[in-house]
Amino acid sequence: MISLRVEQTTPISFPDRSILHRRGIPINPSCPICAAEEETIEHTLFWCNHARATWFVSANTYKPNLVGFGSFSLWWSAILNEFCEDQLGLCFRAISYWIIWKERNLAVFDHIDPNPIATANRISKSFFEAKGDPITSSLHDFAVSSVCSPPPVGTLKLNSDVAWRDTASYAAIAVVLRNHERKLLDRHVCLTQASSPLAGAAKALLQAIQFAQSIGAFSIILEMDCSSLFETVCNLENIRWWKIRATLLSIKSLLPHFHNVSLSLVKRSTNRAADFLAKSFLLGNLSCDWLASIPSRLSSILYFDSSSVV
Ligand SMILES: [Zn+2]
Repeated sequence: MISLRVEQTTPISFPDRSILHRRGIPINPSCPICAAEEETIEHTLFWCNHARATWFVSANTYKPNLVGFGSFSLWWSAILNEFCEDQLGLCFRAISYWIIWKERNLAVFDHIDPNPIATANRISKSFFEAKGDPITSSLHDFAVSSVCSPPPVGTLKLNSDVAWRDTASYAAIAVVLRNHERKLLDRHVCLTQASSPLAGAAKALLQAIQFAQSIGAFSIILEMDCSSLFETVCNLENIRWWKIRATLLSIKSLLPHFHNVSLSLVKRSTNRAADFLAKSFLLGNLSCDWLASIPSRLSSILYFDSSSVV
């Protein structure tokens, strides 16, 4: 296993164009990728479009302060201070900026267009390889949990649930995406056709997996409170529920896209955020701006989850 220790020293100076220009080298100081600003190391690693998009889709939850910072050295000192007790978190950030810098070099010297999702995947892959985690692409870790536990650093947790009404052929499915600090990153809710609660729960799980794939997630934990679905997904090689067979086969086909997939059966009380969203949407109780303005009930659920003792 590679040591994850990050040296507590100021990093080297990156030879960005603004530095070379100030040293008298006849070079255009503009960013060669976006040409919108002078190319400084801060711009390259955080503010250029490809870097901004990479930080956004990355499992790395660090978001640069939009106010900015005086220099790269000051930023690194602050990071060292913030993560002095968290070598894994520090390592993830160090790997992130190094791979974003390499992405910039590929764009500048090899004229390869930056791909933020692929970059985010490379960051996660490098991190897990450095940790020495085994490479696997199948559902390999099953757990029954009764607490809202945070996922490991670099892993995203998705809770999914369904609200179903037996007088209708449709259901509301909801997905809540959280990081390793249990902070809400995103959520999704929609209506779908479902002939039973189990069919709806399966579609909610499929939605969660598609959601994770769309943002380039590399390692995920899928939490649900439907024991029938949990048992079925644990045994995808022997599907008994033919009515949801198509959904289960779709789930099975997507699993190889991830480095790690864990499945957890949790109590309903641990799945309240997704449960609340699905029920509220089915009843028409979500305001039209609910994505921009989180409902107070959901805020209190998230606060309770994030402050619960693990
Ligand atoms: Zn740029």
